[in-house]
Amino acid sequence: MSGNYGRILKINLTSSQFQTQTIEEDIYNKYIGGKGLASYLLYELNPAGIDPLHADNCLIFATGPIAGSRIWGSCRYGVFTKSPQTGLYSESYSGGKVPEAIDATGYDAIVIQGESREPTVLEITPDEVIFHDAEELWGKESYETEDRVMEKYAKSDDGFKRKGAVVIGPAAENGVCFGVIKNDHWRSAGRTGVGTVLGAKKVKAVLFKGDRKRPLFDEQAVKSMAKQIAAASKDNPGVNAYKSMGTPQLVKIVNSAGAFPTQYWSEGKFDKWESISADALHAQCDVKPNACLKCFMACGRLTTIKEGRHAGLKLEGPEYETIYAFGGLCVIDSIEEIAYLNDLCDRLGMDTISAGNLCAFTIEAYKRGKIDHKLEYGDVDGIADLLSMIARREGIGDILARGIRYAAKKWDLEDIAVHVKGMEPAGYDPRVLKGMGLAFAISDRGDCHLRATFYKPELTGMISPGQIEGKAELFIDFEDRLTIFDALIFCRFYRDLYLWDELGATVHAVTGLPSDKESLKSVAASISDIVRRFNIREGLTLEDDWLPEKRFQKLEKTGQELKPEELAYMRKEYYQLRGWDENGFPPGE
Ligand code: SF4
Repeated sequence: MSGNYGRILKINLTSSQFQTQTIEEDIYNKYIGGKGLASYLLYELNPAGIDPLHADNCLIFATGPIAGSRIWGSCRYGVFTKSPQTGLYSESYSGGKVPEAIDATGYDAIVIQGESREPTVLEITPDEVIFHDAEELWGKESYETEDRVMEKYAKSDDGFKRKGAVVIGPAAENGVCFGVIKNDHWRSAGRTGVGTVLGAKKVKAVLFKGDRKRPLFDEQAVKSMAKQIAAASKDNPGVNAYKSMGTPQLVKIVNSAGAFPTQYWSEGKFDKWESISADALHAQCDVKPNACLKCFMACGRLTTIKEGRHAGLKLEGPEYETIYAFGGLCVIDSIEEIAYLNDLCDRLGMDTISAGNLCAFTIEAYKRGKIDHKLEYGDVDGIADLLSMIARREGIGDILARGIRYAAKKWDLEDIAVHVKGMEPAGYDPRVLKGMGLAFAISDRGDCHLRATFYKPELTGMISPGQIEGKAELFIDFEDRLTIFDALIFCRFYRDLYLWDELGATVHAVTGLPSDKESLKSVAASISDIVRRFNIREGLTLEDDWLPEKRFQKLEKTGQELKPEELAYMRKEYYQLRGWDENGFPPGE
């Protein structure tokens, strides 16, 4: 079975047992692997309507058919579960070096069910699962946890070439609904609270060790493909921009477009943007490019702060989304201070996008007299304190730990709360980038920017940001291509190099499956449909595919807006092109 191992691992934490299971070939034919396989398994194995923090909610680690190969951008893993943040389908991805260790265990997916009574470190090898006691690690921050797990369980000469651990921090242990899974210190499966599900299962860390390799359909073609892509990357402006400036380059681009969310979504431009830009980061800090394995782009920024109160602080980041969430939304005009808050979230194991949104939302709640907890825009120390309170669930931190929907209801601020399906958005204002409005509204995992990365065509002139009619067609083309990326579990930032032809050639070289655009689009549609069916089973309705009130209000200075009828039009077109009915239901639902 080329490109896949043909087997999965099922671990039951309640009984401390495990078993392997083979997967029928027609499942791979229909879904390829990666997200496709994991979504199929989640649909089949998860009990309908289960509480996300209940033992029976499955948490699935998956790598894709390209994992461990020479394909550039292939060192990634995905986590799939039912989200404690949205109560719906959850997917989250991370890179680094650990994904190749996950892959080397020799499973296409690892399904974790049940819950431990005591804190546990799972050790997974190709033939065994060991359940270690983790009492001494419970409560520890993420970096220390990863170091200690590697020190204690991965040092011995056990013959395995690939070893690596994923961990959670205190926030996920304490049930903060946006707890992340971390690896390689700074890489995170950051969205939808996947770490919180692991925490509810009392799993502090999972150590992966292995030496397995996926059988590839055509090794020679994989090799040629890697050469071809490396050559094509040389003059690609998108690639060069990520190489030289990383994701912080987007601060300038998005701010110039007037779509950089500022002061909790009231403005689209930040007047101090230059002091939190990629140029500021590179000029003021010691920055080295940092790459996942099998990557020539090295978008990661290994940053050391040179001066000021955080001098000596080292981290990978901050990424654009963290800069927007703390810089734009919370109006913090120092890149070093944003890096400090980024580091705090990493140690505590919380998603920086949700955390930044919630801090800015708290500032608005205070300004409007809804709470007594004093917090102002730009108050870095106040925000740092609030982050700790959230992670430990102290005071108002306990309210925020339950997520934006809960806090908005509690403080009677539902009219200004910005989220879709309970998850806070990334940094692209849909009143300017209207296709991002469609992306946020219809996304399966909540307010997500990544399934189609539609900011890319809207910011680069491939399509006018204000266009409404006909937008869904290009949107679906992007979304389908990137769904195949997720079935392979491929890095998004390689999207300019793997258009349909290159992607098809890769799928064929790795799996031998039909790889013309029509076949791949049919696989993408099967994956979209099964995810949709999962969400419908969990209670998704038409009203959930919509934006919050605040996003239909005009931007204060520029007056730009997205009208409800514009979103309704794009959504209708999208459903039609997907072959879904007017409620967004696939055939047979
Ligand atoms: S571009 Fe960035 S995220 Fe993607 S593989 Fe390279 S370093 Fe990792």
